[in-house]
Amino acid sequence: MWRKAGILAGILLAAGASGCSRFEPDEYSPYLPTAQMRAWWDEDVACSGRQGNFDRIQWFVVPGESFACPGGTCLGRWETNHRIYIAEAWITSPLVVRHEMLHEILGGGGHPPVPFEDPCALTWDSWRGEGSSLVAELRRVVRID
Ligand SMILES: [Zn+2]
Repeated sequence: MWRKAGILAGILLAAGASGCSRFEPDEYSPYLPTAQMRAWWDEDVACSGRQGNFDRIQWFVVPGESFACPGGTCLGRWETNHRIYIAEAWITSPLVVRHEMLHEILGGGGHPPVPFEDPCALTWDSWRGEGSSLVAELRRVVRID
């Protein structure tokens, strides 16, 4: 799941792409959210103190380990039309999935330190969960938008 070498190579080559208006990856497929994702949603609601509608989200999986997105290379991407795109290799990553769901809960694309870093810990720098050491390496070169 945490395949590293390919990610780093691909990311550096793709950095610097620019975007406009509504973003869509070149290739993606609908994804049926899992019970695990619903459980993570509850964690996001709890840490943010905000409410949201999980069932309004349309999930999509993007083939591969990352994808080009406005401003660089993404592992995940939330859009204001309640669409969430996740790179296939990261579809079971709580950091990436919960990060995108927190955007949905907040209704915005920014990363306010409260609650993104504290108390939710859903940024590269604040994440302390599964795969933390790899995340520390990756955080400088890839985005979770
Ligand atoms: Zn983000």
